[in-house]
Amino acid sequence: MNALAQRIVEDLPTPEPEITDGFHLVIDALKLNGIETIYGVPGIPITDLGRLAQAAGMRVISFRHEQHAGNAAAIAGFLTQKPGICLTVSAPGFLNGLTALANATTNCFPMILISGSSEREIVDLQQGDYEEMDQLAIAKPLCKAAFRVLHAADIGIAVARAIRAAVSGRPGGVYLDLPAKLFSQVMDAEAGAKSLVKVIDAAPAQIPAPDAIARALDVLKSAKRPLIVLGKGAAYAQADEAIRELVERSGIPYVPMSMAKGLLPDTHAQSAGAARSLVLKEADVVLLVGARLNWLLSHGKGKTWGAPGSKKFIQIDIEPREMDSNVEIVAPVVGDIASCVAALLDGMGKDWPTPPAAWTDAIQAKRDENLAKMANKLRKNAAPMDFHGALGALKTIMAERPDAILVNEGANTLDLARGIIDMHKPRKRLDVGTWGIMGIGMGYAIAAAVETGHPVLAVEGDSAFGFSGMEVETICRYELPICVVVFNNNGIYRGTDTDPTGRDPATTVFVRDARYDRMMEAFGGVGVNVTTPDELSQAVNAAMDSRRPTLINAVIDPQAGTESGNIGSLNPQSSVRKKPA
Ligand code: ADP
Ligand code: MG
Repeated sequence: MNALAQRIVEDLPTPEPEITDGFHLVIDALKLNGIETIYGVPGIPITDLGRLAQAAGMRVISFRHEQHAGNAAAIAGFLTQKPGICLTVSAPGFLNGLTALANATTNCFPMILISGSSEREIVDLQQGDYEEMDQLAIAKPLCKAAFRVLHAADIGIAVARAIRAAVSGRPGGVYLDLPAKLFSQVMDAEAGAKSLVKVIDAAPAQIPAPDAIARALDVLKSAKRPLIVLGKGAAYAQADEAIRELVERSGIPYVPMSMAKGLLPDTHAQSAGAARSLVLKEADVVLLVGARLNWLLSHGKGKTWGAPGSKKFIQIDIEPREMDSNVEIVAPVVGDIASCVAALLDGMGKDWPTPPAAWTDAIQAKRDENLAKMANKLRKNAAPMDFHGALGALKTIMAERPDAILVNEGANTLDLARGIIDMHKPRKRLDVGTWGIMGIGMGYAIAAAVETGHPVLAVEGDSAFGFSGMEVETICRYELPICVVVFNNNGIYRGTDTDPTGRDPATTVFVRDARYDRMMEAFGGVGVNVTTPDELSQAVNAAMDSRRPTLINAVIDPQAGTESGNIGSLNPQSSVRKKPA
């Protein structure tokens, strides 16, 4: 280069190095890993994160309360096997989201709660920062894993770890703590891009040991009265064809747990759902597939399960420590459900003996008897409606629209709907899950609509609906194809309690004859008030056809419910009643 050229080059402004920052690295790391949707509530310090994510083409669904955003993320995880993302502000927003994170972990749903947090230096010295809280420490015992990121260069690794922790092994909730300062930290864009990690094989197959499979098949073969219990782990695993093959080739009757309904259609000839009490009591060998022997299965013992020692349990689960958690498991099969079921099918061969006819005939008889008893109740077209009449109408609609997703919560509304409404396809029933909690309704409905594009029918007790009711605005804002039916019986369990002193409303009642449908109208959706099953059918079908946000206030006889629905035994009652002073 001659001297002149040298001078010209030196005088040119040096180009600014391309930079990136914490905001962009978080978004890039999520997108690199195929995560396209964020559920959250904006605010300090994550407002710009939501904005930038939207600008980067991600779907960002803003809720009215973090708990519902968190529930949405959790059920998105269940439906897709990818961790659902919930984004919240610090302290109170984080705590609101934490309930959902704990619930996700309990239910084995993969999700990541990402919360902004205040300045570490001030928080750790407890000097009273804006929304000061040691969020990492608080989250830790309530989730599978919790990480904090202090340097922008670590964001890629942190997101990779969070994804792996959420979906590998037994899925669950992960907390990611991102202090405010991290978001605006800048670094060289090229180095930033290199720091990101695309997770390879996030949920590796876990192949069961051959001798565990042989042991399980030995036990199964010895059975006189075998039973398969399908849990929501089996629904999550998306091994639908293999599971159907296992059930059909073995000829063994099965009962689905609530969220496993539809894995095989509830109308399947081998479904023993309508003879549940009989089969749990009488079975001699029980194969659990992705179902825990927790309270929902009476811990595998007691009256429900017949004479002590009358059962042998085989259990398929990805979590080794689940074995023997409540009763002895004589044949533990540890691995992922797809691999375990495939191995069982291999070992069974083509001519597996069908179970004794005495067993399957007895189940068939009981099932026919129970279904016949139920059928009459479901046909009642009276006003005011009782639960059965209203649910009979919804059962027909779900049979005609098998792709629709049913969200269900409440007490009587839950217990009766679970038994009455048949599911016809896998992962179409989303409900209160392992804890039996209220408040999942609108969050689950929103994510189900967003993730699948299918219409959603949310069947809600009036009390249950109240926990997440404000999210009808979110449903209207995003124009989601969700039809909410509120079973309005004026209260919790029943609408007829009174305060013995005569002063206040009873603790279990709500405003009489409330019009929940008007909440939906307030935000531009469709509201309908119905008093008969025929009106209910019409309104639900119209909502499903139009795909417009709809809320149907279904007037139910306030006398119709029972205390605590099916789980009254868990609800202690005082035998001492003092007269009002
Ligand atoms: P339900 O309430 O329907 O009975 P649970 O939530 O009690 O279902 O049980 C689900 C079980 O499934 C959990 O023990 C979990 O470890 C297990 N699980 C989840 N995903 C898988 C998988 N892919 N392979 C094997 N087991 C799984
Ligand atoms: Mg009620």
